[in-house]
Amino acid sequence: MEEKIKLGISTCLLGEKVRFDGGHKLDRYLTDTLGNYVQYVPVCPEVECGMPIPREALRQVGDPASPRLVTSHTKQDFTDPMVRWARERVQGLEREELCGFIFKANSPSSGMERVTVYDANGMPHKVGVGLFARIFMEHFPLLPVEEEGRLHDPKLRENFIERIFVYKRWREMLAAGKTLGRLVSFHTRHKLLLLSHSPQNHNEMGKLVANAKKIPPYELFERYQGLLMETLGLKTTVKKQINVLQHMMGYFKEELSPDEKQELLEIIEQYRMDYVPLIVPVTLFNHYVRKYDQPYLKEQHYLRPHPIELQLRNHV
Ligand code: SF4
Repeated sequence: MEEKIKLGISTCLLGEKVRFDGGHKLDRYLTDTLGNYVQYVPVCPEVECGMPIPREALRQVGDPASPRLVTSHTKQDFTDPMVRWARERVQGLEREELCGFIFKANSPSSGMERVTVYDANGMPHKVGVGLFARIFMEHFPLLPVEEEGRLHDPKLRENFIERIFVYKRWREMLAAGKTLGRLVSFHTRHKLLLLSHSPQNHNEMGKLVANAKKIPPYELFERYQGLLMETLGLKTTVKKQINVLQHMMGYFKEELSPDEKQELLEIIEQYRMDYVPLIVPVTLFNHYVRKYDQPYLKEQHYLRPHPIELQLRNHV
C-alpha cells in the first residue's frame, strides 16, 4: 500500500481538547476526508511548551514584526519559552519528513497570517503571524502551508492538496537518489501541471533541466525545487487550463475522429463558459488517453494530480 502523505497539523483541528478553554476545533473535512490520504503529525505549541488545559487565553501585543505573547488579563509573558520550544520542535519535525502543515487560523501561536496584534493603546490589528507558525515557516520555507479556514475555499483547497501530492513525489525522488535521469523524468511527468500554473515558469524550468549538465548537482536540485514550489503556488486560471487542454489535443491529431475532436472542443468551450467544471474535459481526455494509449499523456500527473474521491476539480 502506498505510504500516506505526512502533514503537520494544529492539534485542536483533530478534535483534541487542547484549547485554552478546554475545547477543540474539530474540522471534519480534515479528519474524515483528507484524513484518508494523509498521516497527521499533531502540534499544539501552547500545551507542548508547558501550558495547562484550561489556561488563560493568550494574545500578541506590541510590534507586529516581533510581538510578545502574553496572557490576556494577567499579562504573563510566554514569548521566550514559546520561541525556545518552537526552535527545538522544528528541528525535531525535520525527521518527520512532512509534506505540508495545516495551521489553526487566528491563533496567536498557530495562526499563519492575519493574527490579531494589540498595539500599545490596546487597539487590535490583523497583521500578525502565530509565534510557532512564523518559526515553522522560516525553518521550512518551501513546505506547503495553509489554514483550516482557507481550505474551505475550493480553489485554495485544490491548490494546497495538489502541492502536497507533488511535494511527496519530489521527496520520494530525492530519497531514491539525486540523478539527472530522475530529475528529467520528474520534470517530464509534471510538465502539464506546471504549465497550468505558469507558462513562463514552465519554460524556465524546461531550460534549467535542458542545461542541467552545466550546473553543479546541488545547485541544480536547489534551484529546481525552489522554482517547483513557487510555480505550484501561482494560481491557475481558466485561461491557463484551456491552454493546457488545447496543448493536449495536439497529441491526438492522428487518432481522434472529426466527431471526437468536435466533442472535445465543445466541452472545452463549456468549461470556458463556466457551464462545467474542469473535471469534465479532464475526464474526457483521460478516456482518450486510455483508448489510444497515448504514451506521453498517460504519464502526466496533470490528468490525475490527486485522488478523484477528493472531488477537487468539481467546482465551476
Ligand atoms: S490553536 Fe494551536 S496552540 Fe491553540 S489549541 Fe490549537 S494547536 Fe494548540
